[in-house]
Amino acid sequence: MPGNDRSAATDVVVVGAGAAGLAAARRLLGAKRSVVVVEACDRIGGRAYTESHTFGFPFDHGCAWLQGPPGLPHVGLAEATGFTLVDASEPDGLLFTPDGPAGAAEGDAYDAAAARITAALGAAKEDVAADTCVDLADPWAAAAATWVGAMDHGVDFADLSTGDFGVYGPYAVNALIREGLGALVLRSAEGLPVRTGTTVTGIDWSGPGVTVHTTRGDLRARACIVTVSTGVLASGRIRFTPSLPLATQAAVDDLPMGLLVKIALATGGTRFGLADSTYLTRAITEPLPAPACFFFAFPAGWDLIVGFVGGSFGWELARAGEAAAIEFALGELTGMLGGDVRRHVVQGCMTCWADDPLTLGAYAAARPGRHAARAVLAQPLGERVFFAGEALGGAYPALMSGAHLSGEAAADAVLGHLGRPAI
Ligand SMILES: Cc1cc2nc3c(=O)[nH]c(=O)nc-3n(C[C@H](O)[C@H](O)[C@H](O)COP(=O)(O)OP(=O)(O)OC[C@H]3O[C@@H](n4cnc5c(N)ncnc54)[C@H](O)[C@@H]3O)c2cc1C
Repeated sequence: MPGNDRSAATDVVVVGAGAAGLAAARRLLGAKRSVVVVEACDRIGGRAYTESHTFGFPFDHGCAWLQGPPGLPHVGLAEATGFTLVDASEPDGLLFTPDGPAGAAEGDAYDAAAARITAALGAAKEDVAADTCVDLADPWAAAAATWVGAMDHGVDFADLSTGDFGVYGPYAVNALIREGLGALVLRSAEGLPVRTGTTVTGIDWSGPGVTVHTTRGDLRARACIVTVSTGVLASGRIRFTPSLPLATQAAVDDLPMGLLVKIALATGGTRFGLADSTYLTRAITEPLPAPACFFFAFPAGWDLIVGFVGGSFGWELARAGEAAAIEFALGELTGMLGGDVRRHVVQGCMTCWADDPLTLGAYAAARPGRHAARAVLAQPLGERVFFAGEALGGAYPALMSGAHLSGEAAADAVLGHLGRPAI
């Protein structure tokens, strides 16, 4: 077997200590394989990242909702280690027109439009651009499409693949973690052999086994699992020798990174009469893609209103910088809640996944017609380089749970190739 270099010091090198890499490492260790996880950043968790220094309470820059199938270990871990799950399966939502809060008829129109969009995309027989399946002429359909495209998938509705949209499995869990989902993912790394501050610069898979070149020296292994984002793969920051096969390279190109920017506004205790965990959505009267910010107020009870801006306008706002983004979000929030808002916002912060060289975007979104690229990227190279990460999240793409499952799947594939451990 070409990948089976039994002289290698380590069975498997895992590149990246996000949800996928951690899951892969846990699985391999459980099968008594030797593993090293190398992580460029000086912290563990990747796009699962909670910090408390900005606001004095936990804020998730990346994933915040724990959503996925039954059996996710994060639920049991949270319960066993004192994390608080806050059910998010039936959130409150408020709608706003340019003239103020929407009435019941407008609420019905929004619900009907959202249902129409879900049905139309789900019924698509081929993988096409979402905007070819549904009429978005009215402002509530445009608002629902903005949630689905820009805010959920990180791409404009016109750039959303119906293949991507249609793949999602049901959620057995849909919860916020009051102490932060990033903190929970970090907790899941306990006991794993992670080397932080170690950037992988190249992977030589000319065989046998692999040599992983890092900024702290080379690592020899029988196989490696690469969990970096498709943005990082596309950037060429990791040099593969030999080069990635054309099909793999094409798959990476067909899975560019979407962007979701969060603009978090601390309100210093003012609640504007809103319940915890309430979505705020406005009618979209501009042509799509609209320069819009929708909000989630007081997540899990924290004193924060989090704005979401995604897709092409998200990239634009990220380039404009934090001050401009906060200003934009304040304008949008004032448009919804009224003139008093700015007086109560004591602090703001914008997430910056767009130009983080370790992600280069929020999560992958297949180009319309190219959903099948996900399966191509999942193919290992020479039985020794395996890919994992949210782009390969199966029925939960883009999600932390999908990343986790992809890590486990890659580990199982590696174990299948390596055979039983030598005793
Ligand atoms: C703004 C935002 C909101 C989100 N909201 C949700 C949500 O609510 N719920 C949800 O389920 N998901 C959400 N997600 C998605 C979720 O965060 C990701 O799907 C998941 O965390 C990705 O895990 P991963 O292991 O695939 O990748 P990552 O977490 O990116 O892990 C890859 C790791 O590789 C490292 N790396 C990169 N280059 C190198 C290199 N050269 N050498 C070594 N290491 C390297 C990176 O530093 C990183 O730690 C959100 C993401 C974003 C950005």
